[in-house]
Amino acid sequence: MPATSLQLLPRFLDALLCASPAVVYATDSQWWQGKLHYLGINVKSLCGIDRDWLRESPSRWLDLLTTDSREDVLARLSRACRDGESQVSLHYALRHHDGSLHHLQDDVVIHRDGEGVISELVGSLIDVTERQNLLQRFEKLSEQLPGTLYQCRMSPEGKLTFPLVSSGVLRLFGISPQAIIDNAETALSCVHPHDLDGLWRSVRRSATRLKVWRHEFRCLHPDGRELWVCGQASPEREPDGSTLWHGFCEDVTLRKQAQQALAESERRYRFIVEHVSDLIMLIDADGICRYASPSVGNVLGYVPEDLTARALVELLPPDDAPRIQRRIHESSRMGRNLQIELRVRHCQGHYLWLETSCSPYINPYNGLYEWVLAVARDVTDRKQREMKLHELSTTDSLTGALNRGAFLGCLKSSIEAAEGMPSRLSLMIFDIDHFKTINDTWGHAAGDLVLASLGEICRSTLRSHDIFGRIGGEEFALVLSGRSLSESAILAERLRKKFESVRVEFHGQWLNFTVSFGIAERYERETLDDLMHRADMGLYVAKREGRNRVHQALATEL
Ligand code: GH3
Ligand code: MG
Ligand code: MG
Repeated sequence: MPATSLQLLPRFLDALLCASPAVVYATDSQWWQGKLHYLGINVKSLCGIDRDWLRESPSRWLDLLTTDSREDVLARLSRACRDGESQVSLHYALRHHDGSLHHLQDDVVIHRDGEGVISELVGSLIDVTERQNLLQRFEKLSEQLPGTLYQCRMSPEGKLTFPLVSSGVLRLFGISPQAIIDNAETALSCVHPHDLDGLWRSVRRSATRLKVWRHEFRCLHPDGRELWVCGQASPEREPDGSTLWHGFCEDVTLRKQAQQALAESERRYRFIVEHVSDLIMLIDADGICRYASPSVGNVLGYVPEDLTARALVELLPPDDAPRIQRRIHESSRMGRNLQIELRVRHCQGHYLWLETSCSPYINPYNGLYEWVLAVARDVTDRKQREMKLHELSTTDSLTGALNRGAFLGCLKSSIEAAEGMPSRLSLMIFDIDHFKTINDTWGHAAGDLVLASLGEICRSTLRSHDIFGRIGGEEFALVLSGRSLSESAILAERLRKKFESVRVEFHGQWLNFTVSFGIAERYERETLDDLMHRADMGLYVAKREGRNRVHQALATEL
């Protein structure tokens, strides 16, 4: 190049670079502490500084930097130089000659010779004060958030960078935003090693499909804590094929711990419920089964799905169902537990006795019960033994009639049930005539045979709900619910005729016997004793009037 052209070069460069908003400069390896090779003339418009003033002593530039900026920037530059980087982007705050503070971005290209020794640093300065102010406002806003806002870019080659990270990242994960902006590896290195692959997979999937990224993963905080982090970000494709996410990350450790504790307790309760031999059911307020434990298979032969959404009433004996349902509903409504023994149909059709404890769940907000927890145990064997014992203790073995105690108990219940009801109730007392003579003539065994025959005839003639009792040696009684005096008299007459006509075979001999009857229909509010007494009086009259007859005791006969 001719000498004149060389002389013209700085002016040409000034003219050329002046057209750019950036201020270009070139220094030796010492940067502003060494020799300044070139400085764009537009440095004046950038920060009001005269170029020649700086050329005289380039280190004046460093004096204009705020103290924080200066230390940081020198450290970063020397690190980049030492690490063999070819460029580095520096940010610093600089005091303008008019006193105002300006934020500059200084993109420095590091030139090296063939040996790798730094020959020149060429920088390009731009004023990013406005952007910095915006960023500061963004930081202020993001401080209000419980997590950290960020931008993440993935190049078409799959390299990650974080152009923007809010300061929340320091509070949450103990890493400075700048450390992540400088090197994305810093962020990735704190991800739990077991969760790293899954994280990458989810990021790539979001990049490929351009779908919102949402992922939960563990991070290791520098203080040794393990954190659960939930990240969410929306991706967009950039012209060069990169993917840029705008996202938010937050610490969800507490929520995760609560979820894990809940899942753990759920698992524990499920284990108990599923391994307990008792049958556990949840029944809603409409009587519909909402849950049945697997033990329903052992107890009732069903699989749990057979029962869910089915009405409990379908499993109960039709006669008992309304009464049982009413009892469960009533006690649940009052918030009371109920212990009840009920019969439930096995899948094969037979009934089992289940000892059941019903506990209502009351909704604390409206005070209504929402469902009943029923815990049931098969007690069929015990129940059958009890019933057998009960039968033995209440039944007279010779005649099959209730013994005196059981009969009086039943009569008492019948009177109580009839109290205030329009239905009628009659009592019949009957006694074998001259029984002593039968005993005396044919022996005690013959007498027993007569008693057994009488019992047999009564039980085959009576309805299942008529109550038949042996109230003395050869004296019997019948409670006839729903029968009037005249209806009872017809029945008594039928029985009398049957007894009269029957022949009992005893060792080749045919024995016959007759029976006398007294009947009384209960009038309103009549006590058990009075009713018994009146029927007894009727029997007395029948005996007195010649035996083998029925006498109706009227209310006036007391
Ligand atoms: P009446 O017509 O007045 O009733 O006369 P009766 O002989 O039937 O009455 P009584 O009360 O004098 O006699 C009842 C007899 O019944 C007396 C008793 O030995 C007998 N007896 C009571 N229990 C049994 C029993 O279980 N087996 C037998 N074989 N006899 C019994
Ligand atoms: Mg007698
Ligand atoms: Mg008698």
